[in-house]
Amino acid sequence: MELEMIMPAYYDSNVYVINKKIIIDTGMTADHVLPNLEKIAPIENIELIILTHTHYDHSGCADEIMNRSGAKLAIHEADASFLEDDDLSGALNFGSRTTCPPANILYQGGEKIPIGPNENGEEEYLEVIHTPGHTVGCICLYEKNSKTLISGDTVFSEGGIGRTDFKISAPEKMTASVRKLTELDVENLCPGHGRPTIGNANRSIELSEMMSSRMNP
Ligand SMILES: [Zn+2]
Ligand SMILES: [Zn+2]
Repeated sequence: MELEMIMPAYYDSNVYVINKKIIIDTGMTADHVLPNLEKIAPIENIELIILTHTHYDHSGCADEIMNRSGAKLAIHEADASFLEDDDLSGALNFGSRTTCPPANILYQGGEKIPIGPNENGEEEYLEVIHTPGHTVGCICLYEKNSKTLISGDTVFSEGGIGRTDFKISAPEKMTASVRKLTELDVENLCPGHGRPTIGNANRSIELSEMMSSRMNP
């Protein structure tokens, strides 16, 4: 898997680009994200946008990227209806209105999204892991050959966890979700905000579990 990251502007989420054709989260500042995306890949080549959850700082540029590429939009089914809601998507918190179109693809968790072969010709995929807590429809994406976890706002580097006090949060599910992640073998953690952890990220996720069990008992 070839993974590239667009560093955020302002409060944007991190944007990850896989194999120059799949985007995980879009950020919300189009005049920052689109020029930087163009440096990585022609926008018209983007085939799929996967949102780790509905929040506007992760979904705000989806419409522009879709308009310029025809890419499909994918999200967990439990978060899908919030995409077009100015309040529940969080757009109003950023002084904006959502322009996100409805998703084309709805996940339930457990799907394996093909991303193409690696340099050895082996087919690779992202596994969808449903991790409700920060929102009811949060997902993480795991690529097992590189042991990489793209974690959205569920866990961050150095033991961080996402807030669980939104109307669409499920605080009672957060700790179980983080515990599910501790069962994976994770070398590289690519969170929705802050810097990635490269190497031995299992330790970071164990710290997140401790943090969540304290904050979301
Ligand atoms: Zn976020
Ligand atoms: Zn969020």
